[in-house]
Amino acid sequence: MRQFSIILTTLALVTSCAPKEKEGDRFEELFHGELKIVDLTHPLSETSPYWPDPNGYAFDYDTLIKQPSGAPGMGRYKVSEHLGTHMDAPIHFADGKSSIDDIAPNEMFGPAVVIDVSSKCAADADYVLVKQDILDWEAEHGPIPERAIVLMNSGWGNKWEDAAAYKNEDEKGQMHFPGFSAEAAELLIKERNILGIGIDNFSVDRAIATDFPVHLIVNGAGKFHLENVANLDQLPPTGAYLINAPIKIEGGSGGQVRIFAVVP
Ligand SMILES: [Zn+2]
Repeated sequence: MRQFSIILTTLALVTSCAPKEKEGDRFEELFHGELKIVDLTHPLSETSPYWPDPNGYAFDYDTLIKQPSGAPGMGRYKVSEHLGTHMDAPIHFADGKSSIDDIAPNEMFGPAVVIDVSSKCAADADYVLVKQDILDWEAEHGPIPERAIVLMNSGWGNKWEDAAAYKNEDEKGQMHFPGFSAEAAELLIKERNILGIGIDNFSVDRAIATDFPVHLIVNGAGKFHLENVANLDQLPPTGAYLINAPIKIEGGSGGQVRIFAVVP
């Protein structure tokens, strides 16, 4: 029940200006009313961009039973745990830490912090979000809230439909997209109380990072990543609340996640 009380507490804060009503009315307001819900999830399809390494392959969907119209009545799919909008469980880069089914439900919900460095990333595809970007965000918006999920808006989300632009490979096949820096990850893990971090491209480490330092720091601390997050440009820098619902693969290193942001 704790996650429900977290939601209720948040909604109480969000709706504190509205006339006081019954508790149930807050759910009514959330799901049918005034609060906006932004879907931060890309649809999965056979054209979805995927990491071009030997383990990489496209989302693979077969229709097993067809409706008279040809639409699928039943299908099946094969997909990497790390294709599309997904969550990296701590075990992805930290042996012995939680798998995707082991992350407690109340670790899935938290206030969203959105740090927009999209103009810096437009100028430099290898940009890393540095410690100073976090300090500048806090100077403007206040301290990062307790149990926040810190999202980097690199501007990559709107390239999703164009896999070549999303991968942004040079003539040697090296991809170029931005990420978090190790110093930013250290600050968030050691000096703030966060649930996880996320980004609107393939990886919380930039493409040219050689040894995945951010994965090692964040997963190493038992925290998750969200990758290929959609629609970050529709969120305010602070004030939104995230609901993450990852697929529950027993022992999985990660998996597709449906992410909703509740925006007051
Ligand atoms: Zn991943």
